[in-house]
Amino acid sequence: MFLKGKTAVITGSTSGIGLAYAKAFAAEGANIVLNGFGEPDAIEAARAGIAQTGGAAALYDAADMTRPDEIAGLVERAVAETGSCDIVVNNAGIQHVAGIADFPVDKFDAIIAINMASAWHMMRAAIPHMRKRGWGRVISTASAHSLVASPNKSAYVMAKHAIAGLTKTIALETATDGITVNCISPGYVWTPLVENQIPDTMTARGLTREQVVNDILLAAQPTKAFVTPEQVAAFALFLCRDEAQSITGANLSMDGGWTAA
Ligand code: NAD
Repeated sequence: MFLKGKTAVITGSTSGIGLAYAKAFAAEGANIVLNGFGEPDAIEAARAGIAQTGGAAALYDAADMTRPDEIAGLVERAVAETGSCDIVVNNAGIQHVAGIADFPVDKFDAIIAINMASAWHMMRAAIPHMRKRGWGRVISTASAHSLVASPNKSAYVMAKHAIAGLTKTIALETATDGITVNCISPGYVWTPLVENQIPDTMTARGLTREQVVNDILLAAQPTKAFVTPEQVAAFALFLCRDEAQSITGANLSMDGGWTAA
C-alpha cells in the first residue's frame, strides 16, 4: 500500500483508462477523486467499489474539463476533503474524426479544451499543493498521436502533441521540487473512446467495421493487439514509486511498437 496517505485526482475516470488508473491507485491505498461524466448510478457504483478496494477516501466530482473554474475547484475540493493533492492524472479526452474542411468548429474547441487545455489548468492548480509537501506526480494520458499523426484527427493530434510539450516544460519548472511530470502514450486501447470512433472512421474512409478494426486500428500496431487499460494503469503506478523519481519530462510510449515503425 505504498500510496497510503496520498490523494490522486484523476480526470475522466468514470470510464476506460481513467477508471483503471483509479482502481490501481486505490489498490495501493490512495485516496481517489473520480471525475467525468456518465450515469449517476454507474458512477456511484464505481466510487463505492473503489472505496472498498483500498479502504481510503473515494470522492466523485463532476467538474467539466472545459471549465477552468471547475478544474481549480476539483483540486481545491481534493485538498479540502482529503488533505492533499499529491497525484494528478490528466486523462479526460474525447475524439472526433473528420477531414479538416468538414471538421466542426465546436468539436475542435471541445477537443482542445478537454484533451489539452485542461491539463494546463490542472497543473496550474495542483503544483503549488505538491510543492508545499515536497512530493508530487503529474501523469497525462497522451497518445501515440503525440508522436505521429493519422489523417482526419487534426484536433486530437494537435492536442496530444501539445501535451508532450507541456509535460517537458512543467517537468523543467518542477525538477528540484520532488515532483515528476510525465505522459504515457498508448497505442489503441479498447475503450468506449475507440468504439465510438469506428462509425465515423467507416464513413470518412468508406470502410466496413471489420476493415476499420483490422486495417486501420490494429494495422498501426506491430503487436496486432490492443493495449489494455490495466497495462496503462500499472505503468502509471510505477511512475508514482520512489524508484521512478528520475523519470521526468518523458513521453513514454506503450503502443505495441507503433511509433517504432
Ligand atoms: P473513455 O471515453 O472511456 O473515457 C473518457 C473519459 O473522459 C470519461 O470518463 C468521460 O466522462 C471523460 N470526459 C469527457 N469529456 C469530459 C469533460 N468535459 N470533463 C470531464 N470529463 C470528461 O476514453 P479512454 O479511451 O479511456 O480515454 C482516456 C484518455 O486516454 C483520453 O485522453 C484519450 O485521448 C487517451 N487515449 C486513449 C486511447 C485509446 O485507444 N482508447 C489511446 C491513446 C490515448
